[in-house]
Amino acid sequence: MDDHELASHLAKKAGSELLKLRDDGITSGINSWVLRDKADIFAHHLIVNELARHRPQDSVLSEEGADDLTRTQANRVWIVDPLDGSQDYPYSGSEEWAVHIALVDNGQIVAGAVSCPSLNRLYSTAMLFPKERPVSDSKLVISNRWNSYQASYVADAIDARLASCGSAGIKASLVIGGEADVYIHNSGLYEWDVCGPIAVARAAGLTACQLDGTDFIFNKEVPIVRGLIISHPELIDDVLNVLNRTR
Ligand SMILES: [Mg+2]
Repeated sequence: MDDHELASHLAKKAGSELLKLRDDGITSGINSWVLRDKADIFAHHLIVNELARHRPQDSVLSEEGADDLTRTQANRVWIVDPLDGSQDYPYSGSEEWAVHIALVDNGQIVAGAVSCPSLNRLYSTAMLFPKERPVSDSKLVISNRWNSYQASYVADAIDARLASCGSAGIKASLVIGGEADVYIHNSGLYEWDVCGPIAVARAAGLTACQLDGTDFIFNKEVPIVRGLIISHPELIDDVLNVLNRTR
């Protein structure tokens, strides 16, 4: 397996196991907080064990792992969120959770995958995406749940509807899948929230950048980013103009 195939394999395997764990947990009546914690740890161990087997030399930064910062000395680092949207995960029928996998080399993303198991969706840099993607006739901007301020101005400027939902991976997948045109997240995120989604978005021909239009550097000592835009490339100039005015 090359790095792209491995990212895809990890997201798919963790995603399907998480779906089974959730269904079994709900059937057995386990408390939702306990199920959520159990799932975080379970998916973390599954991913780090697979990485240790397939890429023993590489470093890992996982939301659920201890970070001893030795990764900052490494070139190749897998940045993973074993379960993004864990607050929504432990409920039957909830769709807003995902698995994020990315490989970063010298601070730049080189491969990645996002699986959205309850939408039966898997996107990865191992896939071939269509070269052309039309902007929708009925445009949609998607934002994070708790702060749609700037996204609402963007939606107004490009004559789009506005919606929000949980999980950065789910929101990115909506743009990648063509159901939405722009995703704006105007608050702080961890690198594991965004790396997998950015990897796949770029492979799909979308623009992914910070709120001021600049590129990201990953595997930082403090692994935080200040926001995220994933946009259809034809809309990015309009988006950045609005964000520039509303900052
Ligand atoms: Mg998580």
